[in-house]
Amino acid sequence: MTARKTILVTGGAGFIGSAVCRHFVSTGRYRVVNLDKLTYAGNLASLRAVEGSPDYRFVQADIADDGTVRSLLREEKVDAIMHLAAESHVDRSIDGPGAFLETNVVGTFRLLNSALDYWRELDGECQAAFRFHHISTDEVFGDLPFDSGIFTEETPYAPSSPYSASKAASDHFVRAWHETYGLPVVLSNCSNNYGPFHFPEKLVPLVILNALEGRPLPVYGKGENVRDWLFVDDHVKALEAVVTAGRLGESYNIGGRAERTNLAVVEAICDILDRHRPLADASSRRALITFVADRPGHDRRYAIDPAKIERELGWRAEETFESGLEKTILWYLDNDWWWRPIREKKYAGARLGHGG
Ligand code: NAD
Repeated sequence: MTARKTILVTGGAGFIGSAVCRHFVSTGRYRVVNLDKLTYAGNLASLRAVEGSPDYRFVQADIADDGTVRSLLREEKVDAIMHLAAESHVDRSIDGPGAFLETNVVGTFRLLNSALDYWRELDGECQAAFRFHHISTDEVFGDLPFDSGIFTEETPYAPSSPYSASKAASDHFVRAWHETYGLPVVLSNCSNNYGPFHFPEKLVPLVILNALEGRPLPVYGKGENVRDWLFVDDHVKALEAVVTAGRLGESYNIGGRAERTNLAVVEAICDILDRHRPLADASSRRALITFVADRPGHDRRYAIDPAKIERELGWRAEETFESGLEKTILWYLDNDWWWRPIREKKYAGARLGHGG
């Protein structure tokens, strides 16, 4: 894509989507139209930095609302869709999988159809430049043993949870719309993100805030499950590389080369907080760690090989796990205006967040 393109970001009021909106607007190279239904996970407070910008517009709508999506695509002359809207929490998908099918599968299908009809109306040059970028997860690849294996773009899909099954299905639909109808798509599958503006029911923010408040720090099983961790702003830079320079029809694995057990993540948070906010008796917050019954179908390990995006698109994670985690913790310490209203409303310690 050349400069000054209009991007439709779906799910732009969520954790990663809001980081996409903030970054893309800040570059001055894009107009960003954020389409979000504002479910429990959507929060316009995450967009304060851009809400007054002439390069930013928010529209509250469902991705499945074809009428609104189609007229928005035409009215804004959209050059690319970055599709992040989803139900994203694994534990919620176990309690109630229906919403995951509705949004992640049916919603993506309807969005693809709206995009295809719009794309067909474009002239040849705009058709060639158009992109539909589906933002997906490494969880579609399923379970790895603790001691071997790594996900590449060729790894067969083997999702374990209703969440990952719904994301796998949507990945397949996106590929099919490319192969069957010629829609110019790119896909990316990323590992666990963490960073500022992360909804406080997910593991990292939940543990930071519980640890600050002296509450128990719940860890599934023995805390042995391994995930790869990526700082959200590094993910956003990777997404920019994929949507602007990714090869058509290709998928790119995105990861931080930072595998950690859940227990190591929780302990690292305790240690950083102890350094920045020592307890009066100088004890360690690790004492708050509480092991709880494991989640059903809990994949042991995810490990991602980001060699393709590094080689082809020159992207590389800039933060180490330790530097990114420290930045994240300092952000939560400085920005209680953002998380306190959410915590106080209904989520204080309510859930254990090891989700997607
Ligand atoms: P999130 O739950 O924080 O945000 C999702 C956003 O989508 C919310 O703002 C919500 O209001 C919106 N939304 C939900 N249903 C909608 C609908 N039907 N129509 C319009 N908007 C709707 O999610 P996130 O963590 O920011 O993840 C974004 C995307 O990235 C998801 O597709 C997820 O699968 C993927 N992903 C996330 C991670 C991670 O670690 N968080 C890792 C890899 C991939």
